[in-house]
Amino acid sequence: MNEYIKEISEKIDSKKEYYAKISNRIWEFAEPRFQEYKSSELLQRSLKEEGFSVRSNLAREETAFIAEYGSGKPVIGFLGEFDALPGLSQKADTTERIPAEPTQNLKCESESKTEQKQGPAYVNDCGHGCGHQLIGTGTLASVIALKDFMKEHNLKGTIRYYGCPAEENAGGKAFLVRDGYFNDCDLALCWHPEQGRRACYGSTKANFRVFFTFHGTPAHASMCPELGRSALDAVELMDVGVNYMREHMIDEARIHYAITDTGGDAPNVVQSRAQVLYAIRAPKITQVKELYNRVCNIAKGAALMTETTVEIRQVAAYSNLISNKILADHMNTYLEKLGPITYTEQEYTYAQNFQRALSDQDKKQLPTIARDYFGPKASEAMKTPIFEPIAYQNLYSDLKYSTDVGDVSWIVPTVHLNIPTFAAGTALHSWQAVAQGKSSIAHKGMLYAAKIMALTALDFLQNPELATEARKELTETLDGETYPNPLPKDLKPEIW
Ligand SMILES: [Zn+2]
Repeated sequence: MNEYIKEISEKIDSKKEYYAKISNRIWEFAEPRFQEYKSSELLQRSLKEEGFSVRSNLAREETAFIAEYGSGKPVIGFLGEFDALPGLSQKADTTERIPAEPTQNLKCESESKTEQKQGPAYVNDCGHGCGHQLIGTGTLASVIALKDFMKEHNLKGTIRYYGCPAEENAGGKAFLVRDGYFNDCDLALCWHPEQGRRACYGSTKANFRVFFTFHGTPAHASMCPELGRSALDAVELMDVGVNYMREHMIDEARIHYAITDTGGDAPNVVQSRAQVLYAIRAPKITQVKELYNRVCNIAKGAALMTETTVEIRQVAAYSNLISNKILADHMNTYLEKLGPITYTEQEYTYAQNFQRALSDQDKKQLPTIARDYFGPKASEAMKTPIFEPIAYQNLYSDLKYSTDVGDVSWIVPTVHLNIPTFAAGTALHSWQAVAQGKSSIAHKGMLYAAKIMALTALDFLQNPELATEARKELTETLDGETYPNPLPKDLKPEIW
């Protein structure tokens, strides 16, 4: 077995500069949800050059693609992401909040001449605050190494890179699942930058995103207020109603809202249109559906009270993650076998500088994070500025965030790997996370994740009966429940 570890590791390490360039390039593109044209194209091109067959523009998502190699069972899917977050543009390697400037055109070996002519990488107000450039590229490294291994060892089976757009604020994978692209997939593997090394064995929160748009009647607010019906009043009353509902819902649920249209900035005009966006989260998608129905009733009540009308439009949904112990155990074995990631003194200094740049709140949180992740090994973990031990094995936690990997996990046995790529304590979706996204620490974490995923998949390619066992476990866990496809049938992926 150690032989395989060496072989896979060497395959990945031998191209580390190439992968670092691709990741940096995607970091520079910093394309937001459903607009990841260049990032998706770069990954597709790299996969084609390696002999993968590529289908693109799937489930009405222009930037979605599937790259496939091999034939027959098992079919192992790797979930790559590459979208950035708005408002997080940040200069690399800087411990101060400075938005990024247009950078020199960094050429990738695979880049065509036409692409190179396009000039500096596209820079907007977005930034990779969730490390999806590392996810997309680490996944690429993983499938390329595995493909080479399969070729050399004449190994049967199919590996697939699922190019999954818009993980952030749209749940791109849920559309791919709804439209059947995972129906013949036997296993799914993915990874995400996080504080500690672990194969996740927990659940994430299910989540609905819903717009409530109220329509009223405009009027002069002083001359004829009796003629007006305020859509803004309706939004406010709806929010008050939902805030009263909080006392009567399960503790684990979360409801957040943002008023996305106040109806204008003139107080002397009765607002005829106003809009609020709700995020409704709970441990299970069925619980979210129940809360969603109650929130809809409150919206209708607010419309009734104000004599306005309400239009309800769900735009995204994320299901809760169903973990698979067989897959997680295999992955954890490789975390132990591969051992901790080793860092240089310069890298420790780099991470320490970023720890100093954390907010006071984040600094205070650090011991709690260490306890949550490492349990009895918390003090050992705190000795270095990047967490190094394997996260506490017995941890079965209900994770507080949501991911569209959840939707895949209901129909395919799925495993979600976490690997650190930044200074301990760095919050995801922060400018500090963006700033560290091109560092050697980030690249080391990315290649480490690539190795762990490839090695885990290799176990299942070499022993296809394990995939049957993983499927059996999923069936038992669901205990008769079926995927409660949370997306309305006719909902199209869209930028909202
Ligand atoms: Zn993310």
